[in-house]
Amino acid sequence: MEAELLSRSPLWLATLLLLVLVELAWRKRTRRGYDGRAALATFGLVLGNIPFALLNGTIIGGIFLAAASLAPVQWPLHDWRSWAAGFLLFEFAYYWFHRASHHVRWLWASHAVHHSAEQMTLLASLRLGWTSGLSLGWVFYLPLLLAGCPPLMLAALRAFDLRYQFLLHTEAVGKLGPLEWVLNTPSHHRVHHAANQAYLDRNFGGVLIIFDRLFGTFAEERTDERPRYGVLGKPASYNPVQLALREWRAMARDLCTAPSVRAGLRALLVLPDASAAQPSRATSARAASETSRQVTSKPASFPK
Ligand SMILES: [Zn+2]
Ligand SMILES: [Zn+2]
Repeated sequence: MEAELLSRSPLWLATLLLLVLVELAWRKRTRRGYDGRAALATFGLVLGNIPFALLNGTIIGGIFLAAASLAPVQWPLHDWRSWAAGFLLFEFAYYWFHRASHHVRWLWASHAVHHSAEQMTLLASLRLGWTSGLSLGWVFYLPLLLAGCPPLMLAALRAFDLRYQFLLHTEAVGKLGPLEWVLNTPSHHRVHHAANQAYLDRNFGGVLIIFDRLFGTFAEERTDERPRYGVLGKPASYNPVQLALREWRAMARDLCTAPSVRAGLRALLVLPDASAAQPSRATSARAASETSRQVTSKPASFPK
């Protein structure tokens, strides 16, 4: 994904770098700090992802083309109604892909990489899992292709979604008035990345926030609840390989020690602390926040 994000448009790359530098200066000026080692780890994750992105692009791209060839119709690319329908359906698919990525361990193993940063910065948005192809999140987009969405449109919508979401990963932008009702915003996405009990597993939208409001997963950022970022129960790491693979290693360990086939399936699909008899992720969030979570951000006094 990053390879796609970084390589196809020099203008976008220049904009991206400029915004990262502006945010760095803003964080220094407002004494929020900027974790240089975390930034290096992010660069490691981006570089390490390039061969996986190329491999995934080839294999999944082939599957997408095959699925599109089965569609009884192809929506015309020159008709704005195709784009409007495609955008809404893409957002719908993205919402469920993202929500599943927080509740199904096989998907979380890849998505957890994106949540590993403990500072909310533009750069941290580039932390994406190397194993997203293996996690099968792309399956959520197959119905669009089978319904007639041209692969080119899907690729364009995905690129737009990625670029839009890059802009959401910052503490430098406060609330955006009426836009907050419809669009995913930096405020909504801070909530998404927060491990606080009040914010856990909320705001899964991509560009739009309407599906969170419709399906009951929306949470508003509060001035009395400062977001704390990172992955529950996982200490900060600056090793890109460790970050990319640690959830898989934990899953493999649980699979190997599973006493039955049923337990093995649970190890692959159910998040350990989401088991019925176990403390909930929310409880874990509270415990984590009360003990070891290191927070370097200042309280939420965002610019208007
Ligand atoms: Zn997420
Ligand atoms: Zn994010």
